[in-house]
Amino acid sequence: MNDLDQAVLYGTPTESQEAFLTRALELGMAFIEGSARGGKVLEYQSEDVMRQYLAQPLPRQGMSLDGLMAELETNVVRTSVAQSDLRYLAFPDTGNAVAGLGADILCTFLNQNLIAYDRSAPSGMFIEMELIQWLRELVGFSHLPIDTPNLTLADVGGLWTSGGNMSNHVAVLVALHAKFPQIKQHGLRSLRKKPVIILAKGIEHFSFSSAALSLGLGQDSLVWTQANSDYTTDPDALQQTIAELDDDCEPFMVVSVAGNCRTTGLDDISAMRRICDDNDLWLHVDACHGGNLLFSDKMRARLSGIEHAQSVSLDPHKGLFVGYPCSYVLFKDPAALEFICRYPDKFRDPSCLDLGLIMPFYGSRGFHSLKLWALIKHLGVEGIGALVERRQALNDRLVRRLNKCGWFQLLNDGSFYRTAFVFYPQDVRRCVEAEGMHVTAADPIRALINKYTQIVSDQLYQSGEVVFDAFSLGDLDNRLNLGTADKYVAMAMAVGHPSIPVTKENAIFDTIDRIVAPVARDMVQELFRLAPREACNAPVSSKGPAGW
Ligand SMILES: *Cc1c(COP(=O)(O)O)cnc(C)c1O
Repeated sequence: MNDLDQAVLYGTPTESQEAFLTRALELGMAFIEGSARGGKVLEYQSEDVMRQYLAQPLPRQGMSLDGLMAELETNVVRTSVAQSDLRYLAFPDTGNAVAGLGADILCTFLNQNLIAYDRSAPSGMFIEMELIQWLRELVGFSHLPIDTPNLTLADVGGLWTSGGNMSNHVAVLVALHAKFPQIKQHGLRSLRKKPVIILAKGIEHFSFSSAALSLGLGQDSLVWTQANSDYTTDPDALQQTIAELDDDCEPFMVVSVAGNCRTTGLDDISAMRRICDDNDLWLHVDACHGGNLLFSDKMRARLSGIEHAQSVSLDPHKGLFVGYPCSYVLFKDPAALEFICRYPDKFRDPSCLDLGLIMPFYGSRGFHSLKLWALIKHLGVEGIGALVERRQALNDRLVRRLNKCGWFQLLNDGSFYRTAFVFYPQDVRRCVEAEGMHVTAADPIRALINKYTQIVSDQLYQSGEVVFDAFSLGDLDNRLNLGTADKYVAMAMAVGHPSIPVTKENAIFDTIDRIVAPVARDMVQELFRLAPREACNAPVSSKGPAGW
């Protein structure tokens, strides 16, 4: 029977409370280490199986803490996906920085409410403000130490949010109001022209169409410009898009992507800045991925121009080793947040430092800034920069191996930490091109690539041994030699870890060879059904990368 006296913690923990909480910490570490998940990245189960053993009626009676822990262990922890595993290569969200983990545990225990200073989060307010100032300094925006006399909400110039999606929502909201202040009182219907955002097609993140939906702008408010073949915004096309805007449109934001979500292509921010200056436009830099380069003196030049953006989104829970939720949106002009302030007279009042007053969308929220603050304290900018640089070296090596292993065609050059590719074994490609099928049978070949990329992606994932991402992507650089118009089922490798021991790296590529070789054989068989076998005999009978 459940003991209600164990339910809440105050005073000295009882033996069973302490055992439960200690076990939670041990289990967390065993999860990251691997023993709590059978040594795999994940123990894959079909959705039906998952449902079956998780399905339970609403419990009328409770259970012991021991019983609960046992259930967490077998049903929840064991079937979770370890993004911190070295073989997890789908997203860079490793979340395993020790300082971050420790600070996050404390965040849970402290349960500070970052809505207000008094009675809620006195140290929390200052730490979050300080962290925001540090991030502003890294971006190249003005910043103040938090012991500046008479600091007010008007000096903060940034907000924590739960993710890049929300950061982009806030950026759109603030840019919209900066351009059209009348909206605050009279709403969107007071505008004579349609407010529009300009962004590049094919490399966009869904957050902008999502913001258009939730802010009542509608999808027509997104005006698409073109991306280059390297998956970055084409500045010339941007210029032209602006020049050709319909008369009934009034642009209020241009989005530059510093690390798009599929290939992490980094826009030429400075070129976009110049165009925005010429046209008096708000430039937003979505640096959810690229932001981590700001920590490296060697690499931050790749984001040059970011310091002249009006707003910037950063997503430390991607690629900065801290767990969810951790995102920030920063504004070059801190006064831009004034319209959001629930009590505008408090915005410049030094006696009020309640961040909740300048926080749209959220009320009560936790002390999630503590983990990034702690990480920066632990490693310093230089330490984090060194990890980012190590990761880049690892990425470059893994990209070379992925390219050389012969199974895949990369769709981008992998110069930052995310590389998209399809399953198109070299020998299959040779056969296709020797036969001219890329011209005469482009549709069936595309279908073949899509089908087998999906199979490879699923089999690798379900093996629980190596995990890549999967999504759809156009071949903007025509690397498949099948034209640029169609979208493909693509896989992607994202390198989030700073390093992988060489034995583990070799094991990853051995696993790939073992799992994909039989799929390649099936693909060849299917190709033979499309093409006369004689023509393909030579290339395909030669040994494939793993001797298939
Ligand atoms: C991931 C991503 C986002 C959204 O971030 P979440 O943290 O998933 O909400 C926005 N923009 C870009 C470019 C991203 O890669």
